[in-house]
Amino acid sequence: MARGREEHQARLAAVAGLGRVLSRRARSSCELCGEGGTLRVLEVPPVLDTPDVERAGLFCDRCRDLLDGGLMRADPQTVRFLAETVWSDVLPVKLTAVRMLRSLAAAGVPWAGEANENLWLDEDVESLL
Ligand SMILES: [Zn+2]
Repeated sequence: MARGREEHQARLAAVAGLGRVLSRRARSSCELCGEGGTLRVLEVPPVLDTPDVERAGLFCDRCRDLLDGGLMRADPQTVRFLAETVWSDVLPVKLTAVRMLRSLAAAGVPWAGEANENLWLDEDVESLL
């Protein structure tokens, strides 16, 4: 058990260590919605054995809450930024936004359904979803 906890702590420290590189990439704003505020590193599945900036993003409190199950409770009009973010060139940001958009589309949110239909993804991106 102790070993598992140590490994978990080591992983958390490694994830936090990505913050500097991510801050530069994110230019001090949330990589999903573009707002400022308190930004924290969050890993994006499918995670690699070693935490990597290609599988992590810097997200604000509100977006972390959305990712933590809040998306379906949120007013869909307040998350329309996702229709833009799905076109991000940053892979983990794109993966996260597409997953959120598709959840909304599946729930019948009209603008999300439309944005999802117009979305074009590389096969290698699609394979990671
Ligand atoms: Zn955000």
